[in-house]
Amino acid sequence: MGRIKSTAGIGTLLADGIGDTIRVSLTEAPEKEIPVCYSILQALGLRKTMVEYVACPSCGRTLFNLEEVLHKVREATKHLTGLDIAVMGCIVNGPGEMADADYGYVGKQPGFISLYRGREEILKVPEEQGVEALINLIKSDDRWVDPE
Ligand code: SF4
Repeated sequence: MGRIKSTAGIGTLLADGIGDTIRVSLTEAPEKEIPVCYSILQALGLRKTMVEYVACPSCGRTLFNLEEVLHKVREATKHLTGLDIAVMGCIVNGPGEMADADYGYVGKQPGFISLYRGREEILKVPEEQGVEALINLIKSDDRWVDPE
């Protein structure tokens, strides 16, 4: 609740262009406040220090376990900076709703996903190879760094 209140309060001020310095106060260790500050700045588009993830809410067309795949994609790529990565459940609406993400992981047909670079479909792979193929695609674009 503290995070939500801080985000609502600080975010409203920053969105109006008010303030140069922010401090989130939580009843937790001080270092837990810092990621909240970064997240507020990233959500408002004022700083980009993390990967921005875009994911659809899932529906009857979803072709894989979206929550699980988003988690796997996030775990594999969260150390990168400056990228937008989309995970979309189907090819019907997914590519159009990826909000110009740099990379897209999109349900193509049962058991298969397609990887996109921007709006371009690059390759189709079996679902179980999807995360590894995404990593390889980012590597082939020279945008990958190994986690520390
Ligand atoms: S992108 Fe596809 S699976 Fe996701 S919510 Fe939209 S229609 Fe449903």
